[in-house]
Order: sequence, then structure tokens, then C-alpha cells
Amino acid sequence: MKFSKINLDTIKDEGLRSVTGLERRAFLKIGFAVTGVFAGGKLLSLVSNVNEAFASSSDFLEQYPYRPHYSMVIRQGLCIDCEQCVTACKETNDVPDYGYRTRILRKRVTDAIGRQREFIPILCNHCNEAPCTRGCPTKATYKDPTTGIVMMDRKKCIGCKMCILACPYEARYFNEEVHAIDKCNFCWDTRLSKGKKLTACANACPTGTRMFGDVSDPENVIYKMVHQIEKQVWVLRPEAGTKPNVFYMKATRSSPWELRRQAEER
Ligand code: SF4
Ligand code: SF4
Repeated sequence: MKFSKINLDTIKDEGLRSVTGLERRAFLKIGFAVTGVFAGGKLLSLVSNVNEAFASSSDFLEQYPYRPHYSMVIRQGLCIDCEQCVTACKETNDVPDYGYRTRILRKRVTDAIGRQREFIPILCNHCNEAPCTRGCPTKATYKDPTTGIVMMDRKKCIGCKMCILACPYEARYFNEEVHAIDKCNFCWDTRLSKGKKLTACANACPTGTRMFGDVSDPENVIYKMVHQIEKQVWVLRPEAGTKPNVFYMKATRSSPWELRRQAEER
């Protein structure tokens, strides 16, 4: 398989898909240091209201195909870049130093009082129309028919990296220790299957940026957040047609959702 070399002049056009894991790691260091690469790049620039994102399936919001239909809401604006989520994820899921299942993107924003930085957690979107699963020649990656979580079967992975190329979100890396692709699985094996209600990242986040639950359950906080009529909810790269299950919305520290979460935790 041929990969192109990193060319900073063409990054905005090519995104990160065309570089190897090693090159990508080098690039990510550059990307975090070079302000505006991510802000202007494909990953963050193409967002839209969730209703528009699912325009090809207008009744999607009422027809979640999985039970439970695990989803995450990222409350943009609350993240303080403490990376407790990243650390908890790595410790819980045995992610090597060079790897990641979730990351925090840094973006420069301009507001009324001048320039500020905004932090945006990203992870696998557990897409309903997941191009990574279609690209895998051995079915090592697949969508769990019950929960909708996009899983990895390491024993079937041959390391061809087709799924890395197919994913529009840079959600996968090659784990050199196990010689297989690794990615977020919403902590299925390490937490959810053992009765825990939250992923490690959602559990560790001190600001309530990451909310986790069942978007198909009207009683669940995720359902209620995503279906707020007055709130804009968006997904990353809606034009990819992947139907992500990670939703983004603006929030402030004093939002009722945070107060409710804190009350529930007491
Ligand atoms: S974000 Fe990438 S790895 Fe995750 S389901 Fe979608 S295409 Fe697959
Ligand atoms: S733990 Fe929460 S506040 Fe800290 S970096 Fe992660 S998402 Fe942001």
C-alpha cells in the first residue's frame, strides 16, 4: 500500500488519512503546535445540526436500531484540557503511549474578549454507516448487532490498515504490541459488560464534558440532551454520511444538565 509523505501545504486538502501511523503521530505533534490546522481542517470545519446530518433518513432520531443504543454527548465549552479522560482511557484499556482511543483537539476561537482556545474531545463515533467495517477484508471490525458499538476482533485482524484509511475521523491506530488495529469500544470489555454505566473517560471527566448513555431510551439523559428542540446538536463531518453516535453541543458550567448529573452522582 502506498502512503503519501506529509506535506504541510496540502494537509488541509488531504486530511490525515493519507499518512502512516508513525507519520500521523509526528503530524499530530505538529498539528497541535501549529494553530489553525485542525480549526481549518476537514475534521472540525464540517459540522451541522443533527437534523441536517441525518437528512437522508429524516426519521432517524425516532428509529435508533440498537437496544441499548450507546451514544456520547460532548458538551463543547466545558472541556479544560486536563486529559484525565485520556489517562483513564489508556489505563483502563491498556493503550500504549504512542496510541490513542480518544484525544483532545485544540482549536483557536475568537470571542468578544479576544482569542481563546477551545478543547474538543474526539473518539470513535460508532457510526451507524461505518465505512471502517465495510473496508475490512476479514470482518475483524464489525458493528455489534445489539449495542451498535463498533468492535474489533484482534484475532481476525491482519494489519492491512484498510479500516484506518476508510475512517473519516482518525479514530484508529495500529497497536504494535498486539499486531492489530485498536480503537474505542466504549469500554465494552473493560466496563460496560461488567455492569458499569459509564465509559472510563466519561467517568473520569471532572467537568461533565463527556456524557454517556442510551440515546434510544426516552428516560436516559443522552436521549433528553439530543432531543432538546431549542438546542443545536451536531456531529463531526456529516457530509461523510456515516451517521455518528457521538453528538456535540454547546454548554456552560451552570447548565441544568450538569446540575442534574451532579445531583445524580450524590
Ligand atoms: S469513527 Fe471511524 S472507526 Fe469509528 S465507526 Fe466511524 S468510521 Fe469506524
Ligand atoms: S477529562 Fe473532561 S475536561 Fe478533562 S480533558 Fe477530558 S473531556 Fe476535557
